[in-house]
Amino acid sequence: IAQMYQPIRQITRLSTRFSKASVSIERISEILDTEPDIQDVPDAVLPKDLRGEIEFSHVSFGYPTGKPILRDISFHIQPGERVALVGASGAGKSTIARLLIRLYDPQQGEVRIDGIEVGRYQRTGLRREIGVVLQDSILFGTSIRENIGYGSPDATLDDIEAAARLVHADEFIRNLPDGYDTVLGESGGNLSGGQKQRLCLARALLRKSSILILDEPTSAVDAKSQALIRDAIDNLHGGKTVLVIAHQFHTIRNFDRILVLKQGVIVEQGSHEALMQMGGHYHELYKLQHGLRAA
Ligand code: ATP
Repeated sequence: IAQMYQPIRQITRLSTRFSKASVSIERISEILDTEPDIQDVPDAVLPKDLRGEIEFSHVSFGYPTGKPILRDISFHIQPGERVALVGASGAGKSTIARLLIRLYDPQQGEVRIDGIEVGRYQRTGLRREIGVVLQDSILFGTSIRENIGYGSPDATLDDIEAAARLVHADEFIRNLPDGYDTVLGESGGNLSGGQKQRLCLARALLRKSSILILDEPTSAVDAKSQALIRDAIDNLHGGKTVLVIAHQFHTIRNFDRILVLKQGVIVEQGSHEALMQMGGHYHELYKLQHGLRAA
């Protein structure tokens, strides 16, 4: 088991970091090191060619050290659906993503992917099959080409460039002194937060996983990058299931569905228009965000 996590330890060492990345990486390695209770079941299934169906069924969860966070959460996401999770800070959005990639097991209820409980899959295989772009995703002190290709050993340079084009990163990469061979320095060199996020998204897309989880940056990303990332997600082909933890409401207007989380409970769900008309928690959060912006 320890050997399996060796690459991740190396990542921790090699990484150049996003703003808050150090916290996150340490948290990841800490979790991998200190969770003996989360292990593969003896006959664990290797996830392969997933369709990308996600189901939470009466899931309740609290971190080992604390109070209950998620309470009786149920929702069902069809393969290829684009769903956003919104809610105030601390509502439990990231926790839902963590259960999905099985960083933790729920105390009650079941999390299923393609109808199989995530606890029945091989954990490392599961992580490979789900593309995850966290707010604090990491870049390494190697070339841009290697950064995008990380985790896709069979990808050709053409594949890497195609992924970069999908996230509209190709142009800025070509404008760097060494193009795709530009070696990123500490903290991602001189790249902006949005450029870094797009490289991480390209990396996730290159893996051709059937599920993409994107934890949208809160504020570090410039408006242009934000729009480019949104456009890349709008243009994804191939029926990928997309789950975005959204902090900016304007990026999710045309999502299939928005799940609204309040203190660990899903209080509303629907399209942006439907939720605005409902005049409930979503509407309240929306007004709050726009009010704060105007201030
Ligand atoms: P944000 O928008 O600020 O990222 P969120 O909705 O994603 O918030 P979570 O990160 O899911 O919220 O956190 C939900 C609650 O769980 C918070 O009260 C948080 O303090 C707590 N929490 C998160 N991670 C841990 C942990 N590893 N151990 C204990 N409590 C935690």
